[in-house]
Amino acid sequence: GRKFFVGGNWKCNGTIEEVKKIVETLNAGQVPSPDVVEVVVSPPFVFLPIVKSLLRPEFHVAAQNCWVKKGGAFTGEVSAEMLVNLDIPWVILGHSERRALLGESNEFVGDKVAYALSKGLKVIACIGETLEQREAGSTMDVVATQTKAIAERISDWSNVVLAYEPVWPIGTGKVATPAQAQEVHVELRKWLHANVSPEVAASIRIIYGGSVSGANCNELAANPDVDGFLVGGASLKVMMSTIPLGVW
Ligand code: 13P
Repeated sequence: GRKFFVGGNWKCNGTIEEVKKIVETLNAGQVPSPDVVEVVVSPPFVFLPIVKSLLRPEFHVAAQNCWVKKGGAFTGEVSAEMLVNLDIPWVILGHSERRALLGESNEFVGDKVAYALSKGLKVIACIGETLEQREAGSTMDVVATQTKAIAERISDWSNVVLAYEPVWPIGTGKVATPAQAQEVHVELRKWLHANVSPEVAASIRIIYGGSVSGANCNELAANPDVDGFLVGGASLKVMMSTIPLGVW
């Protein structure tokens, strides 16, 4: 079976005081067996060491990005090697905000995923269409092209979680319906079956992101191909503890 995965993406938010409070609340909440649910929170880089040190050991941390290759003269970047050095197990790559605001291309994201995996990081790889693309009927083309750029660069998918995060429900409160999420997840699995391998298609976790909250997580999770969530806003409102509660 695919272990349920709940990620909290804090994006570029928080003060040290707020961060400590979120961790405190998270630690005090119900803790599912790590055999059943994997919980990973992703604070901004500067807060990673403190969050890692305060978080209960059942929970893990993810960076929100890393550099595409070995570190060096790349001002402002953080390398995969540095994350490994600090025992940060996970990294989110290809988030739509980075694709849209920082111009990260499919190829660049694919290169990042390949490099991070080669250094031993586990990767939450994000894909998803814009509203315009959905309305034009090109949702599957878009996510398949994004996934293909990764597939062309890696062979071992065992340390990859694929996050389907359509752009239009992100931060809008306009969550995709459970049927919309399930439909794309099924199509993605078919694509992986045909283009990667039946084994990868069956075993990879495909998680949904975009306005997930305590109010809608149960019906989303009820879909057999929704293997978890990447939660943005709600994970900051000290609601992280209520999100997984619905599905544990
Ligand atoms: P929201 O949950 O705030 O819509 O953000 C989703 C997201 O982008 C998670 O990576």
